[in-house]
Formats: sequence, C-alpha cells, structure tokens
Amino acid sequence: MVEPRYVEDASGYRGQAERVFCPKSGAETAKVLAEASAAGIPITVAGAGTGVTGGRVASGGWVISTELLRHMEIGAGRAQVGAGVLLRDLHAAAARSGQMYAPDPTEWTASVGGTIGTNASGSRSFRYGATRAHVLAVEAAMVDGSLRRFERGQPVDFEVAQVRVPATTKNTAGYPLRPGMDWVDLLVGSEGTLAAVTAAELRLLPAPAELFTGLIFFSGNRAAIAAVDAWRGVEGLRMLEYFDGPSLRLLRPRFPEIPKEAGAALLFEQECPDGADEDAWIARLDHAGALADASWFALTPADRERFRRFRHALPEAVNEIVRRNGFTKLGSDYAVPLDRNLEMLDHYAACLEAEFPGRYAVFGHLGDAHVHANILPESLEQFERGRELMIELARKAVSLGGTVSAEHGLGKRKAHLLPIQFSGTEIAAMMDVKRRLDPQWLLGRGTLFPDGG
Ligand SMILES: Cc1cc2nc3c(=O)[nH]c(=O)nc-3n(C[C@H](O)[C@H](O)[C@H](O)COP(=O)(O)OP(=O)(O)OC[C@H]3O[C@@H](n4cnc5c(N)ncnc54)[C@H](O)[C@@H]3O)c2cc1C
Repeated sequence: MVEPRYVEDASGYRGQAERVFCPKSGAETAKVLAEASAAGIPITVAGAGTGVTGGRVASGGWVISTELLRHMEIGAGRAQVGAGVLLRDLHAAAARSGQMYAPDPTEWTASVGGTIGTNASGSRSFRYGATRAHVLAVEAAMVDGSLRRFERGQPVDFEVAQVRVPATTKNTAGYPLRPGMDWVDLLVGSEGTLAAVTAAELRLLPAPAELFTGLIFFSGNRAAIAAVDAWRGVEGLRMLEYFDGPSLRLLRPRFPEIPKEAGAALLFEQECPDGADEDAWIARLDHAGALADASWFALTPADRERFRRFRHALPEAVNEIVRRNGFTKLGSDYAVPLDRNLEMLDHYAACLEAEFPGRYAVFGHLGDAHVHANILPESLEQFERGRELMIELARKAVSLGGTVSAEHGLGKRKAHLLPIQFSGTEIAAMMDVKRRLDPQWLLGRGTLFPDGG
C-alpha cells in the first residue's frame, strides 16, 4: 500500500499507485525508468506535492519521488542542485552567499524539480520572469533509461513545429514548441511528461542591497486595480500583488489588524539600491486614493517575512476551505495581455458576483495581468457549476489573447483546457514530441493529454 502523501497534491486531488521509488541519484532514477519501460509500466514523477493540478498524482503504475535528490552546491552566479532540493533551502543557501534565486512561487516547500516541471513563477516574476529564464542546464532521466545533461542553447535534435505564443507576460500551457528550440526550454514546463529532471544548474543573481515593501490598503477594488496600471513602470519594482475585498475577508481571522475600512489591497516590493524613496511613495499613494495612513510598510527582514506570510496565507486559506468542504480546488490560473487586464477583471467580478456571491476570492499577480479567481463551493451542485464557469472563464481569457495556464500547468485536473488555447494541429504537434521521447506513453500518463497517445 502506497502512503497517501505520494498520490495526492495540494489541490486535494487523489490517485493511486502500485510502488514508490526514492532514487538517490540520477543514475538510479534512470534505472527505474529503464525497468518501467521494459515492463510497460506507467510512471509518474513526484516532487514535493505542492502542485495544484494533479500532475504528480498517479493513476496507477509506479511513482518516482525526487525527495532524496538533495545535493546542493552554491557558486558565484550559479547553483547546482538536485531535483528534490526545496526552494526554502535553495533561497536560504543563496542568501548566505549574498545571492538570490529569482523565481519565487511563494510556496517555499516546493521542490526545484517541481518548479522546473511546472515552469513556476509567482510574485517576483513581475520583474524576473518565470523559472525557465533561470535554468542554465538540466540533468534528466529519459524513458529509454539514459541519463542526459542538456545545456542552455543545445537545440533539440528533431524537427518541431511552431505553436502560438499568447501575448501575456507568463505562459506555461502545453509545450512552447518552436523550430530550433533548445532542450532546456522543452523540458522546463513539460510537467513530468517528457523526462524526470534529476538535477539542474540554476542562475543566481546578486541579492539586492535594499528592499522597500508595502502593503497598501484601498477602500475598494477599483482604486487598487487602477494603481497597478499607474505603478507598473516604477523603477525596481519586483512584485505587485492584488487582494480583492473577499480575499481580505478570508484573511481577517488570521490578521485581525487589517484596517476595518479596507476593501482591497496591493503588496509591492521594490529593489532600491539608493534607499527607499518614501516621499515618492507618499505621492503615489495620495494620487491613487489609497488608505495611506492605514497602510503598512516593511523596513526590516522580519516585517518583510510577515508580509510574505500574509500573502501566502491566502492561497493556504483557500486550499484549506476547499479540502474541508470535501472538494478539489476550483481556481483559475489564466493571464491576459496587460491591456486586456481590466476587461478580464470586470468579467470575473460580474460572473462571480452573479453566481457565487460571498463564495469566491480573486487575488494574485495583477502586475502580470494574472490573478487566481477561486470559487469556494459548499455543495456538489455549486462545485459542478463552478467547474463549468472556470471553462467559460478560460474561453474568455483566450478570446482576449490570454493563456489557460500562466504558472501552475494543466496537470490532469485542467488538461481539458488545452484545446481552448491550441488548435488540433498544435496539440498533435505536442503529442508527436511526447511520442518521440516516450513511445509507450508511460510518463505522466493523463497529464496534459487526457486521452493519451
Ligand atoms: C499555497 C500555495 C501557493 C502557491 N503559489 C504559487 C505561485 O505563486 N506560483 C506558482 O507558480 N505556483 C504556486 N503554487 C503551486 C506549486 O507550489 C508549484 O506548482 C510548484 O512548482 C510545485 O512543485 P512541487 O515540487 O510541489 O511539485 P509537484 O506538485 O510534486 O509536481 C508538480 C508537477 O511537476 C512534475 N514534476 C515534479 N518533479 C519533477 C521532476 N523532478 N522532473 C520532472 N517533472 C517533475 C510533476 O510530475 C507534476 O506534473 C502554490 C501552491 C500552494 C500550495
């Protein structure tokens, strides 16, 4: 009997498996894949299980857990890490050397392999982009039992078609195929369907000397949204996160100090090598009609950590409510082009307020026109309707030039969204690549392509 933690993820989605392997090296991982391949057994790669789309949740076969692939070597400008290294350990080790690893999907118990699998991004991607941009090389165990190392810039050795790229700042739906693409770009974001990443070389950047962070409250959503557009160009800004009114209501029990009059909030973080320009922020807050006196500013690492916990408490609260009610997560991960941001937000608000008043929250990476609209159903009927609405909202995002997945991937729970963004021809091209690397369709079966090969 396989321990439940190996066959579930943070979305509440559950599966089953016959065996779990915890290899201690890339070579051991490749050996497990060779055995699975020889016996025709489906195999699923599991990182830390913080994913929210069921990609690491097996539906039978074997599981490879990367938890023991934990070696880490920090150098100048780069880190060599095993796929099972947790982000919190990487962030801490990088900080001790005066450096930082830029991708920050807020859930620090995620593994490096999982963040590569999903091309995770999160709050700091506003300035630094998603994981893909920070991977210099990947070591991967392939289904044929080989262990390979792919350097950035090493092109794939077969022809690939071009698929459309949405005009968003983030996108991780399907494989980003383009002629001449490199292996690193192909493997990052492939959600454990093409290979098991066993190690990676990641880019580290110098840690900024000084940061200025603010949690700015507004009386309503509208003013907060307008402030995002006004502040997007502020120099050094690396995070611009949004909390709508219902999100603040969810947070109040844990943070009773949230001002009573607050109906929305923005969390910003700015790198400011010459020190914080507080006067400029006072002017910005004033102009944006923010609740300036009630807003909070962080000047110390301890304050910043408090704000980080505040931000992270929200998806945690949503996931907890969903699990308590006995459902799986119903949250969007759609992004749209920046100039369609308002239109998408208005659409979310209209649909959710009409059908799920008091049972939704919209929050996230508004600086990237990418929010998570979460529905909190209380009955099976509401859950079913919520699922349909999520599909309708995905269509709306794509009609605005957006993506059905900006950072979480599609896994198994959201694989049905892929055809909303891509044509049959584009999906066939992705499946050709999958078949080429995994002819028996063993890896991550059910992820991205629900009907298999
Ligand atoms: C409270 C909360 C907040 C979150 N906030 C964010 C956020 O802001 N931004 C964001 O991007 N994500 C966020 N996430 C989602 C999650 O943390 C990321 O998707 C993360 O990348 C998953 O990493 P993991 O190690 O837990 O992977 P898992 O959940 O174990 O796996 C995720 C996927 O990656 C594949 N995979 C795992 N390891 C490997 C490997 N070694 N090789 C190949 N494929 C692999 C799996 O097969 C699966 O398809 C959040 C999650 C939670 C619970």
